[in-house]
Amino acid sequence: MNQEFITEMKNYFENLLVELEAPAEGNLEGEFSGPYNMLGLGKVSNGDDSDRAMDEREKALHARLQARRNFYQKKIKHALEKIENGNFGECEECGADISEERLKARPTATMCIHCKEEQEQVEELIPYKRRSHTYGQEIISA
Ligand SMILES: [Zn+2]
Repeated sequence: MNQEFITEMKNYFENLLVELEAPAEGNLEGEFSGPYNMLGLGKVSNGDDSDRAMDEREKALHARLQARRNFYQKKIKHALEKIENGNFGECEECGADISEERLKARPTATMCIHCKEEQEQVEELIPYKRRSHTYGQEIISA
């Protein structure tokens, strides 16, 4: 795989990681407590039912954002590990090179388009409830 491209991807991932990590404390506070405080909601009067509902929603929103952030962080760190190990851009299923076009569109892709399509076909046959993130790996090791 083209070394220049890999360097480009590495920079891209590192920047993304910084962006994801930086706002975790500061920005979230500013985003959510700022406007609420300006409207006189939140901590100003406590014990009110509508305030508590607001707190719950705020917490749920935080949790969702945090979960999504963790999910992306994990994917990005995995991709960076692969760059370190020199196997970035290799399909984790068949070992073939993933095309640069595919990596540009989906930088965290871990499978070549053929394996991905195969996996999706398998998943279509499985009722939604029975799907799990490890399903593909289970097939391989079985
Ligand atoms: Zn493959």
